[in-house]
Amino acid sequence: MINLLSEDEFLERTANVPLQRVPWDLAKQKGVDVFIRRDDLIDTHLSGNKFYKLFYNLHAAKDSGYQQLLSFGGAHSNHIYALAMAAKFSGFKCIGVIRGERSRQLSATLLDAESAGMKLHFVSRTDYREKNSQELRGSLNRLYGDFFEIPEGGANNYGVIGTTALGTAISQQVKGDYTSICIAAGTASTLAGVASGVAMGDQNLNTDDKKVIGFSVLKGDGDLGSDLINHQHAINSETNNWRLISGYHCGGYAKKLPNYLRQFMSEFEATANLQLDPVYTVKMCWGVAQLLVQNYWPRGSKIILIHTGGLQGRRGFGLF
Ligand SMILES: *Cc1c(COP(=O)(O)O)cnc(C)c1O
Repeated sequence: MINLLSEDEFLERTANVPLQRVPWDLAKQKGVDVFIRRDDLIDTHLSGNKFYKLFYNLHAAKDSGYQQLLSFGGAHSNHIYALAMAAKFSGFKCIGVIRGERSRQLSATLLDAESAGMKLHFVSRTDYREKNSQELRGSLNRLYGDFFEIPEGGANNYGVIGTTALGTAISQQVKGDYTSICIAAGTASTLAGVASGVAMGDQNLNTDDKKVIGFSVLKGDGDLGSDLINHQHAINSETNNWRLISGYHCGGYAKKLPNYLRQFMSEFEATANLQLDPVYTVKMCWGVAQLLVQNYWPRGSKIILIHTGGLQGRRGFGLF
């Protein structure tokens, strides 16, 4: 039996995520108010933006009669973890196509995914690059039968539409009273959805003043902006209330944290009284700190950070 949250329950959870003030000396010196929306707390099993990205995917799978889900990711992937948990608690079977050979000692993420019931299907890095090929599809179908396929990171239209709910919830939560909303960007599909959702939730939005800022966690992010536009186009909701900022990847995607960043991370965590993840949210917060130092925001600004979750990924970095 497949059992999912209803859309009303989903929207109610979304509306009730706590927004907490960050008593940050740096921000105080600059006369800027900083808040963080704790989407890491939205669900006990699948946290952060992956909760939003999976919601309509799960419903689409159920509505089309699928019993089984399949998606792609690396050994520490928050998306793979969230998918395994979502499948377990909603009654789907699921398959994770994992980049790289099976190692003798599985990562904590994959151990958890496997014990939640996910079948792990390892493919070489070369084959993983061809993950959209008909050939791989054919062999997966022969092995596992029919499945509802979700792309890496949950970055399809269902995923983007789910994240619009996050944007709408924020603009309603603060009644349009903010200067910037800040979020980490990997595929930028969450940024796309949040920016669209903010615009849907705020009829009087002045997009020159109020932006959703995505901090890219990638080193080479040449096309992230056009990816974002494509995501918005695909859901028929193009907006110009967003900005992408790069340069705060601190060495690259999922790379070992440099010492200055580890130091910053533990200080910020103590200040805000929460934990960050080492791949996404720490880079966003670091970017925000640098913009504060550069006086990017005028005094009196009100900044909202989105905690997109991903704390399970700390274990891959020896953080507990
Ligand atoms: C996946 C993830 C992101 C990136 O989301 P995109 O939609 O790919 O930009 C950000 N933060 C966390 C914690 C994530 O797990």
